[in-house]
Amino acid sequence: MERPQREGNSRSRRGPAGRKGGPPPRQRVRVFLEGRYRKYVRDLPQTIFYCPRCKGRKGGCDFCGGFGKLTKDSIQELIARKALRAFKSRKGKFHGAGREDIDVRMLGEGRPFIFEVIDPKVLEVDLAELEREINEYAAGRIDITGLHRVERKRVAILKETPTDKIYRALVETEEPVPEEKLHSLPGTRIRIVQRTPARVAHRRADKERIRQVTIRSAEPQGERLLSVEVRAEHGTYIKEWISGDEGRTRPSLGDLLGTPGVCRELDVLEILPLT
Ligand SMILES: [Zn+2]
Repeated sequence: MERPQREGNSRSRRGPAGRKGGPPPRQRVRVFLEGRYRKYVRDLPQTIFYCPRCKGRKGGCDFCGGFGKLTKDSIQELIARKALRAFKSRKGKFHGAGREDIDVRMLGEGRPFIFEVIDPKVLEVDLAELEREINEYAAGRIDITGLHRVERKRVAILKETPTDKIYRALVETEEPVPEEKLHSLPGTRIRIVQRTPARVAHRRADKERIRQVTIRSAEPQGERLLSVEVRAEHGTYIKEWISGDEGRTRPSLGDLLGTPGVCRELDVLEILPLT
């Protein structure tokens, strides 16, 4: 019995000749749009937040109230709603140069991303106008800049290039930190050993990594609150570095301060340029 041929990816990858005797495969047209996004809120995931129970299947489940996902919006969807309409496409993909947690803001010059439009019926779209439309639609939540067309190969470059990041964290400490201690911190460059955080260990290999963290500034914000700016090497788990993650990250910021700390708010201030 002959298996029916499936539409889509798996077939188009076999190349233009297709299967012997079969119909010529339809090459999907794809348009790749690169830009940067800033995110101003602490309740927006980067990509569609599918329900972990039903994996977003049609009709959902009790856990997600039949919705299939856990948040109404994501950066991906805010961009897709306008971009797909402009290109008359039904499907898009979102590729980020890394991602931040749902409750972390992305400020500064923003994070590079590529939005991939699949099978557009329109190819000529005024991208400056599309960018304005997205920014108006998503005002106060995200904005995007520098939208331009790129080649497909940029996706891999974007996803694979390591980038250092600058973060600002609001840290709550168990005990007040003496001022002279705070003043001694800026410029401190430390090498940390970080095991895969407990919160992601169920889906990532549990391994140790060595990372460099540099404290740029540390300012009191209240009796037991500090604003700390750090530069961290690609792949550093910053919240876990602050708390120590129950000994899985050493030394932690709490170790340096002499009193345990937790991250109350986190912002990415800068993603150092992709080279
Ligand atoms: Zn569900």
